[in-house]
Amino acid sequence: MLYFDANATTPCAPEVLEAMRPYWNTSFANASSPHRAGRVAAQAVAVARRAVAECLDARPHEIIFTSGATESTNLVFWGLLLAPRTRRHIVVSAIEHKAVLESAALLEEQGFEVTRLPVTPDGVVDLNIAARVITPETALVSVQAANNEIGTIQPILHIARLAHQAGAFFHVDAVQALGKMPVSMLDWECDFASFSAHKIYGPKGIGALFVKGGPMRWPWPRPLRGGGQEGGLRPGTLNVPGIVGFGAACEMLRQRPADILENIATLRDLLEKKMAGIYRDDIIIIGNESLRLPNTLTMVIKNTSAELILSTIKNSILGTSSACMGNSKITSHVLKALGFTDSVGENVIRISFLESTTLDEVSQFANFLQIAIDTARKMR
Ligand code: PLP
Repeated sequence: MLYFDANATTPCAPEVLEAMRPYWNTSFANASSPHRAGRVAAQAVAVARRAVAECLDARPHEIIFTSGATESTNLVFWGLLLAPRTRRHIVVSAIEHKAVLESAALLEEQGFEVTRLPVTPDGVVDLNIAARVITPETALVSVQAANNEIGTIQPILHIARLAHQAGAFFHVDAVQALGKMPVSMLDWECDFASFSAHKIYGPKGIGALFVKGGPMRWPWPRPLRGGGQEGGLRPGTLNVPGIVGFGAACEMLRQRPADILENIATLRDLLEKKMAGIYRDDIIIIGNESLRLPNTLTMVIKNTSAELILSTIKNSILGTSSACMGNSKITSHVLKALGFTDSVGENVIRISFLESTTLDEVSQFANFLQIAIDTARKMR
């Protein structure tokens, strides 16, 4: 099977599985237990925390392990919601993942004002508008580093500075950025950032929240209550195998060949050129005029059902952009924010490459894709 849906999730790397193995049933003790076995588990967590921190250009105590980026993001918004006296304005981009958009909507229901920043037709936050809407009333700005659907990269540092000049906190959803572009908590000047292991060849159900300065610097009441794990920010028995897997995946990121992203971009560009060459005016490549993740290719194939392509393509997995609402398909909020019409979502295919994708696989996939597109067009 040719897998071209890496932005949805990645397979667990064999090295990650191997690193996790002892922590299920050999070194299985609770990492909070004071006995020797507990200390072994705690030590494994400490090693993983250092590996994750190093990968993010952060300090180990700034890494809070969570169940994934959705939980990390919710923690930030819930923290703000619980603050007794605070500014009551939030700014998010219109193309955030639902983890951010729905969290912002929750606060909106509770009386916060939420501004959803528009993006240019190429999927980048409009900085002029950002500068206007971020004010001394703004408590939190949350903008993703890179988009999961179209791969566009945001000017994070610029937005962080706008937030800080106004005295607001800045949160980054960095899920798609990690492993596909340089990520630095220091250089980005962010206060919080959300990460997920399953996008970088780690296990599902484990992620992290970066908190600048660590839990001691958490500015709001702690939303979750229980034991004191993770500095009280994420109480509950630690998922030691998951944490170890996340650490191993980060370690692998640091050790991989330096030119890996360039190579992926070359393969992506090859496929993009081939498709554009065949279908010419019948194809729109989204986000290719702006900075984009090297592994991401999202295309509108005019008047062609993406669902038919997906169901007829041989031996391949790729994504679509529409969400199911009952029997009808709706265009994703990301494409709508880019100015596409309500029906275009039906014609969008999303292709995202794994790190291990080869030229041979891309060639096979291109052939299968062409056959599937032509079949879908005939069935129109
Ligand atoms: N943010 C982005 C940009 C994502 O792509 C995803 C996952 O698809 C998430 C957040 C949610 O991550 P998790 O699955 O760890 O909750």
